[in-house]
Amino acid sequence: MECIFCKIVAGELPSKKIYEDEDTLAFMDINPANPGHALVIPKKHYENIFDIDEQTLKQIISVTKKVAERINEKLKPEGLNILQNNGKRAGQLVNHIHVHIIPRFADDKVLFTYQKADVDDFDRIQKEITVETPEEEPFEEEKKEEPRKETISRKWRKDF
Ligand code: AMP
Ligand code: ZN
Repeated sequence: MECIFCKIVAGELPSKKIYEDEDTLAFMDINPANPGHALVIPKKHYENIFDIDEQTLKQIISVTKKVAERINEKLKPEGLNILQNNGKRAGQLVNHIHVHIIPRFADDKVLFTYQKADVDDFDRIQKEITVETPEEEPFEEEKKEEPRKETISRKWRKDF
């Protein structure tokens, strides 16, 4: 096993754990950007946002919220970044998906910079990356109703 986070899960490498359940682990980042910098990982090895399944992703996000709330309550930072890197170019060094929780303080040295990009095909890109809205689930009351002879989509009825 090469992955250092899998080794942490297996107990082959030490870590400062702050949360653990059957599927998820959170521990202190060994090289913190700020005091309280924590990482949340699934115990099972997934590399990134593209290969993790939705259920596991929801679990790590839910634990991220729990840990963030604890950090917020106890360390009282003035802000908090949630960060998740995918791929070398995005700064991913450990290829086991992890969510960073980084408490922020006034005048700290953490730097995320965004520059104004030179984009002349904004419209084409917008079209290319627009995601279709999924079919809406019917309301609970509607589910219980007798099936209708004529079905009208809720989206259409809203516009009616
Ligand atoms: P990333 O650049 O998003 O892949 O972040 C990897 C993070 O893992 C870095 O912030 C490292 O400081 C942290 N890290 C690497 N090895 C360990 C370890 N053994 N225990 C805790 N954190 C680690
Ligand atoms: Zn791993």
